[in-house]
Amino acid sequence: MLDKAKYIFVTGGVVSSLGKGISASSLGLLLKKRGLKVCNVKFDPYLNVDPGTMNPFQHGEVFVLDDGSETDLDLGHYERFIDKPLTKENNVTTGQIYSTVISRERRGDYLGATVQVIPHITNEIKNRIKQLERLGDKPDVIIAEIGGTVGDIESLPFLEAIRQMGQEEGPGAAMFLHVTLVPYINTAGEFKTKPTQHSVKELREIGIQPHVLLCRSAKDLSDELRQKISLFCSVPTDAVINAPDVPTIYEVPLKFREQGLDDIVCKQFGWETEKPDMADWESMVSRIRNPKRQIKIGICGKYVHLRDAYKSIIESFVHAGVHNDAEVKLIWVSSEEIKQSGADKLLYDIDGLLIPGGFGERGVEGKIESIRYVRENNIPFLGICLGMQCAVIEYARNVCGLSDAHSYEFYRDLKHPVIHLMADQKNVTDMGGTMRLGAYPCIIEENSRAFEAYGEKEISERHRHRYEFNNSYREMLVENGLKLTGVSPDGRLVEIVEVSEHPWFVSVQFHPELKSRPTRPHPLFRDFIKAAVTYHEDHSDSAKPETSEQTDLSQAH
Ligand code: GLN
Repeated sequence: MLDKAKYIFVTGGVVSSLGKGISASSLGLLLKKRGLKVCNVKFDPYLNVDPGTMNPFQHGEVFVLDDGSETDLDLGHYERFIDKPLTKENNVTTGQIYSTVISRERRGDYLGATVQVIPHITNEIKNRIKQLERLGDKPDVIIAEIGGTVGDIESLPFLEAIRQMGQEEGPGAAMFLHVTLVPYINTAGEFKTKPTQHSVKELREIGIQPHVLLCRSAKDLSDELRQKISLFCSVPTDAVINAPDVPTIYEVPLKFREQGLDDIVCKQFGWETEKPDMADWESMVSRIRNPKRQIKIGICGKYVHLRDAYKSIIESFVHAGVHNDAEVKLIWVSSEEIKQSGADKLLYDIDGLLIPGGFGERGVEGKIESIRYVRENNIPFLGICLGMQCAVIEYARNVCGLSDAHSYEFYRDLKHPVIHLMADQKNVTDMGGTMRLGAYPCIIEENSRAFEAYGEKEISERHRHRYEFNNSYREMLVENGLKLTGVSPDGRLVEIVEVSEHPWFVSVQFHPELKSRPTRPHPLFRDFIKAAVTYHEDHSDSAKPETSEQTDLSQAH
């Protein structure tokens, strides 16, 4: 539509976790629905080259893209809201910027110059933003989110780079959007605008005057408060947008639309476009808010207290729930607790079980035990990555009688390594970016739950693993009733396994959660929830598997 892309820079103030990623995604969605081509990019100020080597406790989920890059979880929000596959260029870290500049220096590209943060690092940051203009469908607008909070030492070079761009491009081509917090102080019974004022002051000190403020608050802010913020921060009142807490993140774009955020952007950039048609989005949100039924899905994993580690899985359940008119209540069960208390005591009330991906041995025995429980009790099951590997171990042990079956990931000296290291991983020594990563095709057998879900024989899904189904055990497992319903095109890698004598038991080596979208749930999550709804309807409480001592699940977690 346009010759040159416009830029929207999103910064955050006061505290972290204000939802900058969701704000940037929501604005992207509104602009996309106005007919513009949108490109979102996230700048992360840490020195890691990518989050792939970080512990989920530090960073939350690693979101893997089709091209195999391991990225920040905000990229997940971008893909879910804007529904456009991203590439490695959409997530840039300080680590990447510095590696580029330092290798250039070693090559002699800067001969004679002292290499400095300004201009060398800032120029590289600006290059990374500008190169997005030439990518893919040539975006009309680049929404660049700067990670961290204004005032952090490590995000300063990014802020300086976007300040320079604001100056060079002018307000007709670059705008600044600042996300802040307006806290409610209970003892005073009032909202306080001072933290927002301070945060804007801090931004101005480094030369950035925001055009729009997105004010996060627990409840709606009054016009009077917005006027006050406007006065102190030199932002027009209609550009002081309120982002109150909402029951579902998918409501955020609707809140922004109501307040005309996209109108403000279009006006500033001189775009004359139709107003966005949000009908499908509104209907999706209304279905999330008014479910016809509630079902319970158990999730058994290592980081159950850290929901960010399972972000895409949680969202996939929301999407699949909408499709099935069900609210999916997630029952988080620590895999270690299963080992101690027994699966029947913790899982008796669930309508389905999901075992997510993971690394390391901790909790694996609990996962295997919970899989045995749902397999024997005909409770729907979805296993993802490590979840599939555990399902194979469980089957080998309890159905094929290989009591010491395990994964080579955890023990090297195994009699029955039913999960083994992939051949091309054997000589890998570096940890970063060396797993089997990204999109790979998979061929599905027609007579299977997987085919029922996808409705096609060749699919593509994203991967992140080092270990695989050991082909030496194929025959034995298949003879004992395990179905290998999805394999790589050369037949060598097992991608999907199912249990035939079970209503819905599907395990996959890839990560379907990375490709679920709010208005287009992932087929496997959709069918898993459908099976769980059927299970729920067929089993009144009395018909659920018995337990010796029924525990209140809400207390157990
Ligand atoms: N740890 C397992 C592997 O590397 C599974 C990885 C995962 O669940 N993402 O193969």
